[in-house]
Amino acid sequence: MTDLLVIPIVLPLLVTSLLFSKYAFYKSVSRHKRDKTDLTYFGFALLFITHEYFLLSLSMNLLGFISFEYVLGLTTFFWIEKRYGGMILSFTPIVLSCYLSLSLGKNLINIIPETILAVVVITLAALLNRENAKHLFIKFFILTTFVTIYSTMFTNYIYKFKVQTHLIFLYQIIGIVFICANLYLFNLQRYKEKTELVNLRKHESFDALTGLRNFFSFNKMITNEKNDPSRYWVFLMLDIDHFKSFNDSYGHLEGNRVLKYFSNKIKSYFDENISATYRIYRYGGEEFCIVIENFLIDESFLVINDFREELSKDDSVTEKGLAVPVSFSCGVASTQAHDGNIRKTISFADKALYEAKKDGRGENICPECKI
Ligand code: GH3
Ligand code: MG
Ligand code: MG
Repeated sequence: MTDLLVIPIVLPLLVTSLLFSKYAFYKSVSRHKRDKTDLTYFGFALLFITHEYFLLSLSMNLLGFISFEYVLGLTTFFWIEKRYGGMILSFTPIVLSCYLSLSLGKNLINIIPETILAVVVITLAALLNRENAKHLFIKFFILTTFVTIYSTMFTNYIYKFKVQTHLIFLYQIIGIVFICANLYLFNLQRYKEKTELVNLRKHESFDALTGLRNFFSFNKMITNEKNDPSRYWVFLMLDIDHFKSFNDSYGHLEGNRVLKYFSNKIKSYFDENISATYRIYRYGGEEFCIVIENFLIDESFLVINDFREELSKDDSVTEKGLAVPVSFSCGVASTQAHDGNIRKTISFADKALYEAKKDGRGENICPECKI
């Protein structure tokens, strides 16, 4: 009766709750990955030894033999991180042998066959859980069932524990099904957390009105990028002309409509006409910055000139159906002319934009271009 309670329910519950606590610890540490110290590794080791100790002593005291000793390592290997899973699996024979030697006075020499078993388990786990492996749940289930049954027979054989009945193996399989069910829910929750985080990051970096990258992204790019003289990035600073008077005449909501119209136009034009990597930022109200990587400045100038022509063929339409032309001014500069310095390049492109405004707007100016 105890077996029926302990093997399919109590130990699996312990394994999964220990896994959750390990995951919580892992997550809190990896959030501060940069300052991971020896102390955090010590924390991992201590956590694992405590977990395994609980599992071993509960198993030993309630059943009179050892069961599920490799499941903690396998769950970590498959569902948290391979490296830590591998570490836990290789430490398992050490903790097991020390525990049995200290608590039951068993011979420490048995660490050798146990270590060989652990190496086989790690190899099998690594073979089944390779990069982009499919059907992970089935593989995990088969491997864990096999290892649990085999290690019970193996450990009990070398330590001469008495396993009463073959029903034990059936109970173990039920226990592993229970563990898998818990893992399934655990993974579902992790997937939800991950998608929420991706959405949050998207909200943080993209402008809700236009879908372009926002000021936060723009600022991050300026702050994070180091000066690199070999960099060949072209910066185009754009500003919609007379936008304020448009707002004043038609209202802010119609102004937003123009911003969306302009952003969609520029996005689709660049998507279709530029093969190089580029990013479009809306870094201010009606101010945009386009960064094109590894592209000639003269070519970039031609592209933005073509875009101006394309934009002039169409009008933005107000909610009441009134057609309003949209024009912009633009300044162009390249990091190549400014020692790879992004801030300096932006300030030169800004100056060119200012010139374009002073000249009467609706113009692209590129002082560094040869055409
Ligand atoms: P210029 O040709 O010299 O660029 O003149 P301008 O009117 O475009 O420029 P100005 O800097 O005088 O005005 C920009 C206006 O943009 C002022 C502000 O109310 C408006 N604005 C800023 N952000 C938004 C927004 O998100 N939506 C709307 N509708 N208007 C905005
Ligand atoms: Mg403007
Ligand atoms: Mg402006």
